[in-house]
Amino acid sequence: MSDPVDVAHIVPPYLLQHLAQGSEPIAEQARATLVADTQKRRARSRRTAPTVIAGGSAATSGPSREIFDAGNSENLPGKAVRTEGAPATGDPAADEAYDGFGATWKLFDEVYGRNSIDGSGMALLGTVHYGEGYQNAFWNGERMVFGDGDGVIFGRFTASLDVIGHELTHGVTEHAAGLTYRNQSGALNESVSDVFGVLVAQYRAGQTAAEADWLIGADLLLPGVKGVALRNMLHPGTAYDDPRLGKDPQPADMSGYVQTSSDNGGVHYNSGIPNRAFALTATTLGGHAWETAGRVWYDVLTGPDIQPGCDFATFAALTINAAVARFGEGAEAAAVRSAWASVGVGARAADAPPRGEGIDPNAPLLVRRTGGFAGLVRERRTSLAELPRSDRRAWTGLLADRTLAALATASRPTPDAFCYGVVCQAAEVDVEVAEHDLPGHVRALLERTLEG
Ligand SMILES: [Zn+2]
Repeated sequence: MSDPVDVAHIVPPYLLQHLAQGSEPIAEQARATLVADTQKRRARSRRTAPTVIAGGSAATSGPSREIFDAGNSENLPGKAVRTEGAPATGDPAADEAYDGFGATWKLFDEVYGRNSIDGSGMALLGTVHYGEGYQNAFWNGERMVFGDGDGVIFGRFTASLDVIGHELTHGVTEHAAGLTYRNQSGALNESVSDVFGVLVAQYRAGQTAAEADWLIGADLLLPGVKGVALRNMLHPGTAYDDPRLGKDPQPADMSGYVQTSSDNGGVHYNSGIPNRAFALTATTLGGHAWETAGRVWYDVLTGPDIQPGCDFATFAALTINAAVARFGEGAEAAAVRSAWASVGVGARAADAPPRGEGIDPNAPLLVRRTGGFAGLVRERRTSLAELPRSDRRAWTGLLADRTLAALATASRPTPDAFCYGVVCQAAEVDVEVAEHDLPGHVRALLERTLEG
């Protein structure tokens, strides 16, 4: 498997940090939650061997659930309170977790033919009443853990079915694509959890894409909070605007892409972009999202082509390929293509035929590196025809999709840092991107071209 998945939380650290700055009692709880989360991340990164999880057999005909109660401590797993088939406990948190696990298992089993998180009937373990006033829920690689919330802003974290689906899907991703929980692959990891989280809720409610609210965590927020949910997949950035929580910072497209080293490289910010691509695909197609867009996304998540470090453009290309493979060249593939275009992500496939065929290979291409403390400028005027074959192919892809434009929009000027510029009139490209904002493979291509 890939790098260990970081402890994945439903409430992003930036939101807790905003809360923690206040002076109210809930600020104290937010600070405590942040400290506890950091300790868990440290503990997890110290782990050397992958966790081995006791699972059921593939022949299981239903889920195998076990719910524990931490009794407001932070000791895991806590005391077992409900096992598979046992009657309701009367404790809403334990029973919601049990039912939510069942609903999540059902979506994956009935719609996608997947038996539990690992596809082999792995036991679904959950702990409720974790910590005191704990404002989060997370998947720690082994079990789902739910806090009770602070009672002022957040209620108990089992209240939203999509949150339970979200946490369990982190487990599916860890066992399938293994998307690295950092930067764009991390934002995709987050997004995929939101995708199947809402699909669990839509499937149980029998809702169409048009009927669904596309909200994540709507039932967590208590009355008095100025907001409707933690995230809005169809309209990222609009979920809340509250003096204590701040404003929902999710971008709706690549023009708002957030470059940050916090939040594992902005995984909870930038997940808004692929989230909206999914919601647009589903609402364009109509009907039940789990049968159309959900099927395509599931094929990619569990298919052979996705890599742990997958970025947005590659994921977009994979979903387009998967839509064509499953439904042919029809409305589905068109909806997927158009959704990614709407959020400003150009599809890039490693082994797709060269794109940008329309660009004249003899058209001038200018590459330069400027900036830097000493003000050195390196520049080369060339054309696609003069480049080695493999680089020509990479350039045609880069010039044809929107990657460069999106990188340039997201790039922040940094004092003394180098800047790379690319000008190709034939492809209507004229951009400048700071060195540190370029993905490694793009920078390597620019350097090779500069060196000639
Ligand atoms: Zn998550």
